[in-house]
Amino acid sequence: MYCLGIESTAHTFGASVVADNGKILSDVRDVYTSAPGSGIHPREAAEHHSEVASRVVAESLEQASVKTSDLSGIAIALGPGLGPCLRVGATVARSLAAYFRVPLAPVNHAIGHIEIGILTTGATDPLVILVSGGHTAIAAFSGGRWRIFGETEDITIGNLYDMFAREINLPSPAGQEIERLSEKSSRFISLPYVVKGNDVSYSGLLTAAIAKLKSGAQLEDVCYSLQEVSCSMLAEAVERSLAYTKKKELLLTGGVAANRVLQKKLRDVAAIHAASFHVVDSPYTGDCGAQIAWTGMLALRARVTVPVSAAIVRPRWRFEDVDIPWRAG
Ligand code: AMP
Ligand code: MG
Repeated sequence: MYCLGIESTAHTFGASVVADNGKILSDVRDVYTSAPGSGIHPREAAEHHSEVASRVVAESLEQASVKTSDLSGIAIALGPGLGPCLRVGATVARSLAAYFRVPLAPVNHAIGHIEIGILTTGATDPLVILVSGGHTAIAAFSGGRWRIFGETEDITIGNLYDMFAREINLPSPAGQEIERLSEKSSRFISLPYVVKGNDVSYSGLLTAAIAKLKSGAQLEDVCYSLQEVSCSMLAEAVERSLAYTKKKELLLTGGVAANRVLQKKLRDVAAIHAASFHVVDSPYTGDCGAQIAWTGMLALRARVTVPVSAAIVRPRWRFEDVDIPWRAG
């Protein structure tokens, strides 16, 4: 069995083919980057996706050496995400599924980040930390769904870095650049640290970091401190959730999972609680077709499909609302 997965929820248009044994046969992406100093512009990103879609899908099938007649299904990320971007991927997936007469598997993008994390690390029943442009959430599986134990009360950690980056005229996404700048400093500037139970709040931290910059603090020092505080806050919330759920595995996934400071802090938390620590394989931290293709494969095997006429986008689709019949627990 082979599944073609299509991702277009935000800045990335991606297509990937996976086999039912979990082998990722191809993962092709083309990422829209915003103009320096501005965030992602949904209409421009959608135009980018329309331009690259056919090439990305064709290259993905070619790299996998899989013909359209070999496909058992097509998976599409229907949400959450930006409406104009989601609609490009959905249109492509619906057309392909109708033309080649194969089932369409609806995939929640966040579940995709979790499933690709589980696939590439071999974790079985982890406490998941999902950190990306769209999410900052701590979740565990119970009773057929992923249950949220903690999350951000306002902006996500990815947003925090990307919005701060706008102030210094960097293009989005910019988390990697913030990490690079942070490595040049070890001078800590005090910034607001806001943890409420298992939840974090980042908007005050963003405002304060921008204010420090404007009042003349060194950019590298602000980046270093912003990263230290944001990652420590999350680590505290994760530790509380880990102590409560008593899970024996910690899985870090999503675009911000690439951040080495966050990895180190969470590895330390896991060690204190004798839990193993896992990070999604590096090519699959950020948005990609593989996360959708693999989750689609799991959905197809569990007979979770949607008629082409009902495959409409869901920009605000929360992942704790998704039934997961393929996972026990
Ligand atoms: P995703 O939405 O999963 O594609 O994740 C994208 C987010 O990850 C963006 O907000 C990026 O700025 C952020 N990101 C990517 N690499 C890093 C990194 N090394 N450190 C922090 N954030 C990162
Ligand atoms: Mg994502």
